[in-house]
Amino acid sequence: MAFEDEGPICQDTGMSNSLLCLDTPEQGDTIRAALECVGRPSVRHSLSIQYPQDQMAQNKLRFQRHPDYRYADRVPILFGIFARYFLQEFGINFEEYFRDPETQFHWQLQFQKWAIENVPDDRCQEPVVTVGPDFENVMNTAAFGGHVEWLAENPPRVRPTIRQPDEVGRVRIPEVHEGFWAKYVRWWQTMTDLAKETEVTFNGQPGRVAVLPLGVQWIGPHMVAIDLVGDDFYWWMLECPQACHQLLETITNGLLHAETCFRQLDQTPRLNFAVAEDSAQVMSAELFRKFCVPYDNQLFDAFGSGLRDGRGMHMCGKSDHLHTTLLEEERITSFQLFGHNVKPAVARKNLGGKCCLWGNLDPILLLDGPKEKIRESAGEFLEALGPCRGIVLGDGANVCPGTPLDHLAVVSEAAERYARERPELFDSEGSSPLSRSR
Ligand SMILES: [Zn+2]
Repeated sequence: MAFEDEGPICQDTGMSNSLLCLDTPEQGDTIRAALECVGRPSVRHSLSIQYPQDQMAQNKLRFQRHPDYRYADRVPILFGIFARYFLQEFGINFEEYFRDPETQFHWQLQFQKWAIENVPDDRCQEPVVTVGPDFENVMNTAAFGGHVEWLAENPPRVRPTIRQPDEVGRVRIPEVHEGFWAKYVRWWQTMTDLAKETEVTFNGQPGRVAVLPLGVQWIGPHMVAIDLVGDDFYWWMLECPQACHQLLETITNGLLHAETCFRQLDQTPRLNFAVAEDSAQVMSAELFRKFCVPYDNQLFDAFGSGLRDGRGMHMCGKSDHLHTTLLEEERITSFQLFGHNVKPAVARKNLGGKCCLWGNLDPILLLDGPKEKIRESAGEFLEALGPCRGIVLGDGANVCPGTPLDHLAVVSEAAERYARERPELFDSEGSSPLSRSR
């Protein structure tokens, strides 16, 4: 699979031939003509979104109150729907999605429009479409020298390149102006430029495109180590712990360095910081304390300090045995898209009211149904965790391609029903019970 960093450019206009996403050619001509009259640059991409204004305001209120452990009219809902879902919906493959930054920008605009208009959750809180370079989960490992396999029909994956413990000394800290991080920055810059040449409207009113700030993006040190070494890393932790610590130190220092450089290049204020440790849930709490906690904490301390949600954690799988460590030693502020293997009652006992919780319906159940079971499962989550507040109802984790939207609608109906059944928890008027009682 080959990659080009430039899209096809029309000789006459200097514009991308295939990438203009104006709703109709006529509309595009009208907008271009209007803008050229007032001396502004041509519109290169255009997107028109329909979304009820009052619903947008209500979604925003739900998420504004969420970090304060307060509710508006019901529990907020957000589904983890990512590129793999949209690609299937739009009938394109990963080769197309990763072709070049403008192609990806174009598709992300289409995906976001479709999601805002069709997915029954609370994602649309402002007239803003958010995009950003997306390389699935391979970016950091690729930067450290992992070998990426780019597949047309499946997400990219990294093949291990470190075979023996004595090879970890060869891993060096990459600079952000070389290798995969440089590619990421280049794509980010292109998307930032394209955002300025994109016209977005919500219900005919002006909106805008936001580009996610530059960042090392979630994938934590232990996950990078597992990608670089493969499964052997698990027994290395027992047989050659020094080599493992050496590798994790190099990776952590590299992530610290890259994130620092990214923040110099892009000084947008960051609102939160989070790390994913999907490779950790198969470890004992003892090993987790040794091989994850110190490294995650270096990242949290450097980049999450002073932020309300500055110590977010994502972990798929059965994490029950790590909850106490996550709370007490990593001091997590949120547990995001946590795995469906964690029973809601266990999440309540271990974490309820102590950190924000976003999860955790079984993606296979959401895909296959039946609806009655989805309803039951959403009800179980709400019954257990609703009274704790600080929760978001969604998947655990990653909505499968092909999941029917009416299966997701069952989840939002369950949240509506729960709000009717437990009115004392909610404030359907818009002001909090707390402020009303003052
Ligand atoms: Zn995960």
